[in-house]
Amino acid sequence: MGQPVAGNPTQYMMEKAFIAAGLDWRYLTCEVPAAQLPDAMRGMRAFGFRGGNFTIPHKVAVIEHLDSLSTAAELMQAVNCVNRVGDQLIGENTDGKGFVQSLREVIDPAGKRVVIIGAGSAARAIAVELGLAGTEHLTIVNRSLPRGQELTDLLVTKAKLQAEFVHLVGDYEVTPDTHILVNATSIGLGDAGAKVPVALDTIVAPLVVADVIFNPPQTWLIRNAAERGCTTIDGLGMLVNQAVISFKIWTGIDPDASVMREALEEFLGI
Ligand code: NDP
Repeated sequence: MGQPVAGNPTQYMMEKAFIAAGLDWRYLTCEVPAAQLPDAMRGMRAFGFRGGNFTIPHKVAVIEHLDSLSTAAELMQAVNCVNRVGDQLIGENTDGKGFVQSLREVIDPAGKRVVIIGAGSAARAIAVELGLAGTEHLTIVNRSLPRGQELTDLLVTKAKLQAEFVHLVGDYEVTPDTHILVNATSIGLGDAGAKVPVALDTIVAPLVVADVIFNPPQTWLIRNAAERGCTTIDGLGMLVNQAVISFKIWTGIDPDASVMREALEEFLGI
């Protein structure tokens, strides 16, 4: 459930994985405006849905309609995956775990200094999971002051992490002690030319640069970081990994991740 979700590739990817796993299951993409979420959640219970994914604008709002939260979702106060156990709806968050799994393919975040641009649901999930993965220090850079400060406070007080907030004004200058830079804003979604507010001359190898944007995967940030010799991670791996984890939560089965990645690339025409 989300809005807008018409172009979201998850249904196509999940249904290919259901078929590959021999499951006669369906995954529906439901366009749900914010005001209709309470009714949609009553419908989810009435129809006996096994679970669901939640995206913009529902990741925080859905919490009051659930019976309990996983430890990570409780910490993040954001849910992207709901699982039904008996008559209970349990909120989980697989976004950050999916991101960390992608990151680990190129660098172990333990002991590293990470800068995250953005302080929305994706940033929140990524920051908490990076903290749980042993990241040494997190810098949250955000345009709106209250949102960035709130996330930083949550990281310091609840998750007991070393974190600082930088209010984004103009282009952010990446400090030389940074190991990993993450764009967790929605800048670049559907626009390969959209510029992330980071000073390009401060993006210097061996910095690892990751972007949450998966459509298009070759964002302005990813292209420029690669041209400057940095290792890059696009948003596709995170999208596949978070879906793999959701699939396992609902079905108890490990899906074929390569089937999901191929379905995603086919859907997006990559
Ligand atoms: P939110 O709306 O919760 O947060 C958006 C963030 O982007 C905020 O920090 C906002 O700053 C910032 N932002 C947006 N526009 C600008 C701008 N022009 N300049 C500076 N900052 C800006 O969204 P989510 O966190 O839920 O999602 C963010 C993106 O992550 C989406 O595009 C989504 O598609 C993607 N995503 C990808 C996933 C994957 O698997 N690859 C999984 C989950 C999300 P401010 O607070 O100032 O408004």
